[in-house]
Amino acid sequence: MNTTLSLQGRPALGIGGTQKLLIDGREVDALSGQVFETRNPATGELLALVAEGGAEDIDLAVAAARRAFDGPWSRFTPFERQACLLKFADLVEDHFEDLSLLDVLDMGAPISFARARRQRAIGLLRFYGGMCTSIHGETLPNSLPGNVFSYTLREPVGVVGAITPWNAPLTSTIWKIGPVLASGCTMVLKPAEDAPLTALQLGRLALEAGIPPGVVNIVPGRGEVAGAALAAHMDVDKVAFTGSDATGRKVIEASKSNIKRVMLELGGKSPDIVFADADLDDAVTGAGMGVFANSGQICSAGTRLLIERPIYDEFVARLSEFAKGLRVGNGADPATQIGPLVSAAQLARVTGYIDVGLGEGALATAGGGRLTEGALAKGYFVAPTVLSGVDNGMRIAQEEIFGPVASAIPFDTAQEAAALANATPFGLGGGVWTGSVKKAHFMAKAIRTGTVWVNCYGLLDPTIPFGGYKASGYGRESGLQHVDEYLQTKAVVMQNG
Ligand code: NAD
Repeated sequence: MNTTLSLQGRPALGIGGTQKLLIDGREVDALSGQVFETRNPATGELLALVAEGGAEDIDLAVAAARRAFDGPWSRFTPFERQACLLKFADLVEDHFEDLSLLDVLDMGAPISFARARRQRAIGLLRFYGGMCTSIHGETLPNSLPGNVFSYTLREPVGVVGAITPWNAPLTSTIWKIGPVLASGCTMVLKPAEDAPLTALQLGRLALEAGIPPGVVNIVPGRGEVAGAALAAHMDVDKVAFTGSDATGRKVIEASKSNIKRVMLELGGKSPDIVFADADLDDAVTGAGMGVFANSGQICSAGTRLLIERPIYDEFVARLSEFAKGLRVGNGADPATQIGPLVSAAQLARVTGYIDVGLGEGALATAGGGRLTEGALAKGYFVAPTVLSGVDNGMRIAQEEIFGPVASAIPFDTAQEAAALANATPFGLGGGVWTGSVKKAHFMAKAIRTGTVWVNCYGLLDPTIPFGGYKASGYGRESGLQHVDEYLQTKAVVMQNG
């Protein structure tokens, strides 16, 4: 499918020409005048030039966010903030098809995958909207002499620097903007250079929703320049970072500048455990999409398939058939199930890991490399790949590949499955497929990850907290505690005679 065709009648989509930085409510060029290209990873087509923000642009954006925090935004009542967020949610709903198409064109997501996130994207904003009016402190009993009254206030931390990856632009941007607005903070968001267009469009919609200029600033740019400047900035109070563990470590280092608060949503190597007593039809489809959806470019993808030995061969065979049957193509085609990888760099990384696995002795029972037939030759397509005969110590079982690659590992007992599940540095997601409630509860407790899915994989909801154990980071997105990430507690102690 030609993406140019799919853009007809959509002139306001935020595509083409030069897309500018969004600072203090205005679209501006980068001070350096520099731009970078963003291309469709399915076709190689140029989508837009994007102003490349640098350290000076980050300075301007942070100053705008500070003025808005100290000024107009601080005078918005909780109900007024809520009204803005709900209006923003309505606008995202009205423009949802365009925003989904931006994810398709800029990062390659299948349109079916992008559309399936409708409820989540809009629901998240309404959930955060609802929370604006329920932020409160407590009155505290104390045993101090005299008549002393003590209570707490929950106050916004201030200016937030948000840094996002490219793999789910719409939802990861909303996951940052929503709770920041609910808390009363202001922000500068630096989207990933591989897919910056959706965040810019959301920034424009935030302005249209009546959110004052300077509250939401969007500054695309290179990670090691604009991202690093934001993470180290002396006037940023908190960094909310989503990305790789390697970059997460740099963000922690940079945060030392002014002891800023940090939350980190990092990578994973999530186990998905299939017991012999599971419904295998459900498990093949659920575990299959748990690793192949969005071409494996999901932080919590269940990439390590731990399979009970008696069903290992059968499960690998069925999963391999499932993988071979998936429709790989341009995400703009509604029939596509698996789109391209986001960039030539990711293509090289993923195919490199497949080669490492084969070199380590794994066997590709499905896929095994790049797809170049017909129109696929223009993009960065990798066949959904199943590697069998994998040992948990191999690099492909320990390092995040971030592509459509499943590693199948056998186990004999629930205890061994739990030990294997926990034997990586990461702890983001985990899955269990079983017909036994007892086994399900045992595994849910034994697996050291921020989420455990039982007889399903990857389900998310605004009310359900999401985040990492171990090297997958700290802090939680979604759930009641998400807005807490952007609040701090002040104690007030009052002597009343
Ligand atoms: P990345 O770490 O390369 O980049 C993430 C962001 O950090 C980008 O905006 C990038 O420009 C910026 N950046 C790069 N260098 C920086 C620096 N020195 N200082 C500050 N910012 C810098 O990650 P990626 O390739 O964009 O995304 C894939 C990774 O994100 C995977 O590891 C994936 O698991 C993770 N991820 C995690 C979650 C989660 O919720 N836990 C969600 C999505 C993606």
